[in-house]
Amino acid sequence: MSKYQSRLNVEQLVAIDVHTHANISTRAPRDPCSVIFDEAMAKYFKSAVPPTIPEVAQYYRERKIAAVIFPVDCEAEMGHTRIANEEVAEVSAEHADVLIPFASIDPAKGRMGAREARRLIEDYGVRGFKFHPSQQGFYPNDRKAYVLYEAIAAAGLPALFHTGQTGIGAGLLIQVTSCPDRVDLAEMAYLPIDAQLWLTKQVANCRAQQVGKVQGTGNCTMKIEYDRQGHASQKEGKQRRQKV
Ligand SMILES: [Zn+2]
Repeated sequence: MSKYQSRLNVEQLVAIDVHTHANISTRAPRDPCSVIFDEAMAKYFKSAVPPTIPEVAQYYRERKIAAVIFPVDCEAEMGHTRIANEEVAEVSAEHADVLIPFASIDPAKGRMGAREARRLIEDYGVRGFKFHPSQQGFYPNDRKAYVLYEAIAAAGLPALFHTGQTGIGAGLLIQVTSCPDRVDLAEMAYLPIDAQLWLTKQVANCRAQQVGKVQGTGNCTMKIEYDRQGHASQKEGKQRRQKV
């Protein structure tokens, strides 16, 4: 085991990419459950099969760019075997001129996750942590995650959170039992707008429809439809003003 120690020469770098994923392990066999997922993601991002960690290092080295690299531990939510944080840290130590290892721990691991975080910081020298709430199935303000946050904060390290839309799961078949060819988001109004927009990108024939009262206009309702690109494709104002 070699503990990561940065060998970045900042003067020589033109940039630091703070968000690259370690998707392929060179130590463990690929989990068959993640193969379909990876292929769908490659199709969505119009890229070939993801590179290994040394290949990521070489790609960035040639461009004089450093990269923060991490796996995503979503074992509890998605049932995919994770790429070991230890592998990411050790391979980054071999390529410490360009790579900066972050770790990922599923908050569902609770106190064991916090112990793992401390071990990765002390023994492997990881420099931060990546969270992916949608893949890990949690809300960032979930108190269950705090024990892990506290371990990270105690070390004074950054935590990186994925927000907004995501290509994760794009192109995969989502089974909607009540309505096989259409997802009617108007009936799923509890979803926040960004979740609705995300779904429009994932599901064929999906349209999101926002219907609601416009504040301060009495009974004026507004209907907006979003297409697969997430753009507002129709906008109608139904004026039903009444004296209030
Ligand atoms: Zn990411």
